[in-house]
Amino acid sequence: MHEWSLAIEIVKIAEKELKERNAKKVEEVFLEIGSLNNIVVEQLIDAFEIAKKGTLLDDAKLYVEEIEAVAFCNKCNKRSEIEPPFIFCPLCMGNDVKIEKGEELHLKKLTLEF
Ligand SMILES: [Zn+2]
Repeated sequence: MHEWSLAIEIVKIAEKELKERNAKKVEEVFLEIGSLNNIVVEQLIDAFEIAKKGTLLDDAKLYVEEIEAVAFCNKCNKRSEIEPPFIFCPLCMGNDVKIEKGEELHLKKLTLEF
């Protein structure tokens, strides 16, 4: 149900933005989601289709850009892509890592119609 609450949140934020900028409707919503958020993109899009009904986002389309998780290993001094939910270095299997990418979760851009 993680995806469902996120979809509702997106609708709320976009509606607020639309009102603040006196737009007529929202056409496109661009989201950036790091893989460490454990969001299933297909489920999020399905939830968005339901959440937007009857709102000012009725015709809006949701685009999701997924960001691979990257960690820097303090032991190997190397950066690698990691596979959530496993947070360890794939080279040495150590867990002395610093997450550099993958925790992002934000609304990147909205296309509005005025
Ligand atoms: Zn390592």
